[in-house]
Amino acid sequence: MVTALIDDMSWAQDAACRGLTHLFFPDHGDSRTGSAAKAICASCPVRIECLTYALDNHENTGIWGGYNSRERRTLNRWRRLARQQGLIE
Ligand code: SF4
Repeated sequence: MVTALIDDMSWAQDAACRGLTHLFFPDHGDSRTGSAAKAICASCPVRIECLTYALDNHENTGIWGGYNSRERRTLNRWRRLARQQGLIE
């Protein structure tokens, strides 16, 4: 169980946001900090892994994979619909 959790997060070693976590959990309404975080995500080599992790684990705070919590809820709704339609696993 612990090993699986560590394996699931191994992508984080290559994260572009290492050492910058203060940018990725902006205060409510602080769009400027959120935009700065999203700009870093745009060139992150593990963006897909990060976003997938956040969607799979229903992370409801912070910026993950370039998306804030409201945007991730929308993505998860689309993902659920795509699964129901058999478009993705
Ligand atoms: S996509 Fe963004 S939040 Fe995720 S690891 Fe990369 S820089 Fe960090």
